[in-house]
Amino acid sequence: MVSEKMMGEINSVNIPSGALSLEEQNRILNQTVAQLQEQMSKFLEAPYLVAEVKDIHEGHLLIRLPHGPEFFVSSVAKLEEIRSGDTVLVDQKSFTVLKKVALSKNFNVEQFVIVDKPSTEWKDIGGLKEQIQEIKEVIELPLNNPQLFEEVGIEPPKGILLHGPPGTGKTLLAKAVASSTHSTFIEVVGSELVQKFIGDGARMIKEIFQLAKEKAPSIIFIDELDAIASKRMDIGTSGEREVQRTFMQLLAEIDGFKTLGNVKIIGCTNRKDILDPAVVRPGRLDRLIHVPNPEGEGLAEIFKIHSRKMKLDPQIDLSCLLPSLENFSGAEIRSVCTEAGYFAIREGRKDISVQDLKEAITKVSQEEKEELSSFFG
Ligand code: ATP
Repeated sequence: MVSEKMMGEINSVNIPSGALSLEEQNRILNQTVAQLQEQMSKFLEAPYLVAEVKDIHEGHLLIRLPHGPEFFVSSVAKLEEIRSGDTVLVDQKSFTVLKKVALSKNFNVEQFVIVDKPSTEWKDIGGLKEQIQEIKEVIELPLNNPQLFEEVGIEPPKGILLHGPPGTGKTLLAKAVASSTHSTFIEVVGSELVQKFIGDGARMIKEIFQLAKEKAPSIIFIDELDAIASKRMDIGTSGEREVQRTFMQLLAEIDGFKTLGNVKIIGCTNRKDILDPAVVRPGRLDRLIHVPNPEGEGLAEIFKIHSRKMKLDPQIDLSCLLPSLENFSGAEIRSVCTEAGYFAIREGRKDISVQDLKEAITKVSQEEKEELSSFFG
């Protein structure tokens, strides 16, 4: 007999009961029960945790829960398919890794790095003739004419390291070569990678290199490289281990792409002395280019670049001013021009006088001294 309740269920699955035999109705009801039981067991299932793989070691995985602790766990997913930086699903009780999932696209790296098509030109850079020549040879030429290197049978560097004091034009050089090769300029700051993205540094590196490949030709510019690539005496604290993992990921990414590919890396630092030699080993950022403070002709060129839109008093004799700009960086010379402009504006003038420039030089060198004394306490 089919009860009233069962009849209701049959109706709820839209079966006109009169049209079916009892066996048929029974078969359909059994199917419905099985489906409902399956749904019920899904409701009872505990949700999986999502974790990031930090390391793989002797058949086990080091995983990290988002912004949480790390665990050394086993896996039922095939280890050979899992890489450091991958996202995996993890059982809530045992933390066993169940499977790898492709969630990385949800992590939009473009929100965190500067991606740009710079318009800086070589003529915007004063001095630095040798540095410009070298960058043209090792970055511009292989990006614009890779076949030349294939024909001659040599491999250009994958990347370069620009080192020298602050404000000397390292970023400017990197932007100019990105512009002259029509490359996407992807700018990352080393200290931000370790401070802002705690626990996500290695993943960021992985995503940045992926983005660079998608947007090729491209140049990855890593400012303050020393923040992730410095020699470490001890890696005892979790923060140090995290920086170490970010660094390892960087080396793995550099090693993983071709010398004649259309992605280049430019590292930048004011502290070459503390860099881990691994990052400048042959095959990595092995062309070191020193970018010093300007001298002589360089000083004059930088001054002219930054004052080209200003109305300078024709009485100004640049050769008399230049000695007082000795030891100034390019960035400071730019500040001198800006400050001189302010002195003129304050006095209601549009022309810049010698006096404006002299006062601006005093102001900028004073600021420099104050900065130094606050730095050294
Ligand atoms: P940091 O090491 O602090 O990152 P940096 O060497 O990358 O500094 P830049 O950011 O390239 O320095 O320079 C800052 C600004 O100073 C530039 O935008 C530019 O206006 C000016 N400047 C520095 N050097 C030069 C130069 N050689 N020619 C023209 N302008 C310069």
